[in-house]
Order: sequence, then structure tokens, then C-alpha cells
Amino acid sequence: MLWLNRLILVSLIITVILSVRYLSRLRSQQRNYPIPEAAAPQAGDRILVFSPHPDDESIAVGGYIYNACQNGAIVRIILVTDGNKQGLKEKRYAEFHQAAALLGISSGQLVFWDYRDGKVKSSDNKLFKQVEMGIDKFDPMVILYPHPSDSHTDHSALGCIVEKILSSQPESRPNILAYRYLIHHWFFPQPGIIVKDKIVIPPERLMGINHEWQQYILASEAKHSKKSAIYKYRSQLKNPFLAPLLLGFIRPNELLEKWSSGTSNLPDQGTF
Ligand SMILES: [Zn+2]
Repeated sequence: MLWLNRLILVSLIITVILSVRYLSRLRSQQRNYPIPEAAAPQAGDRILVFSPHPDDESIAVGGYIYNACQNGAIVRIILVTDGNKQGLKEKRYAEFHQAAALLGISSGQLVFWDYRDGKVKSSDNKLFKQVEMGIDKFDPMVILYPHPSDSHTDHSALGCIVEKILSSQPESRPNILAYRYLIHHWFFPQPGIIVKDKIVIPPERLMGINHEWQQYILASEAKHSKKSAIYKYRSQLKNPFLAPLLLGFIRPNELLEKWSSGTSNLPDQGTF
């Protein structure tokens, strides 16, 4: 059994070396990639959040939403799909209501579009028109929506639709502040869940000059409310693969990438 002990020892040494290198690389990235702060939402702001599935709103921007409501902004969330991949639609909708209430949003500001979970990419022109009407009807000052480089196709497809609409007639919506949020991406969020008191930084692939990341810093009350909202998604937290992802977003900051018509909207090839 000597060979087995040696194998375990070598594996442990390799793991420690790789972990140390990974953490020191992240530290250097954090030092070399300062992220400016996003402006806080104000009273009277009209904020529109597109959420592909029940939970994305809380995972990505739960703290921002909470502060927006506390500050007197008007926040509407459009839930695009039914989240019914595992036949849990009713349960997930109930969790969505509970999470949104914890963030300060009344049921009247929740909109359900009921597209099939996993099928946003193959939706026809109906979704495009609906997103366009959803934006124009609410007349938002701020839009939060999934990043076109998100590796979940429902997220990336929805992000592309929003940006196509914003690009199409920029003069008719001149003052909209558009923020992308990222959830599914290779090695994201980073640093990983083991160091969750650390701020999140963007994936290296999305740090180029075409990307204008900002961070929204969460005070303890906002972070606590976001955490409570995420914990309402018990159906998702039961999944051992999803739980680390959801919990990995309970951080001191939320990342937002500011979009403008000059921002690249070509999806990155990151994988989940
Ligand atoms: Zn999602």
C-alpha cells in the first residue's frame, strides 16, 4: 500500500500548488483590474429587470434591486420563462414571489411571460416584439438583463434580443442606462465559493477593452436581504450542482457591465 500513500501525497501536493497559484493569480487580477462603482439607484428611477428564470434576478442583482426599492425607485421584473424544466413551475413561481417580496417588490410589479424553459433561443419573433413592447411600455431609465456571453442559451439569447432592440433605435430611447449581468460562465463567479467574502471580478475573457464593468457594493443589509431571497429558492438549492452557484453570488459586490451601442455584443465562447 506504499504506492497508494505516495499517490495520495503527490495528489495533495499538486492540489495545494495549483490552489496557491490560482489564488495568487486572482489576487493579481484584482489588483490590476480596478472596477469603478456603479451609481446607486435613486428615488423615482424606473428600473426594468429581465430575468430568464425564477432566481436569476436575486442571484445577479438582488442587492441592487433591494436598494432600489429602499431608495424609492420603481422596479419591475419580467420573468421570461416558466422555469419548468423539472416540472417545478408552480413551486418556482411561488419561490419567485417570495424572493421578490423580500427584495421589496410587490406582486403587481412582477410580469410572467411563460416561455418554455430552455427554449428562448428558438422562440420566434414574438419574444422580440414582446421585449420591445415591454421596454417601451415601462419606459425604464435603467435596464438590467443577462449578458450575451452567458453560457446558458436562455440568458445569452435574451441578452442579444435586448441589445438588438436598444441598438435599433437609440434615438428613441436616448437616456437608458443598460447593464448586463453575468451568471453562467467558465470559472465564474470567481474567486470561488470557498472565499465568498471576497469581491467578484469578471472572467478574464471578458476583461478586454470592449468591456466596461462596474460594481455595485452591497452594505450588510442589502447583502443580507439578497441572501434571504436566494434562500427562498429551495427547489434549486436542493440540487448539489446549482447550490454552489447560487450561494457563490452572495458577495460584497454585484458586477454590472455597462452597455452602449459601441459595446461588443458578440457572445464570448465561455462554457458553463
Ligand atoms: Zn437562469
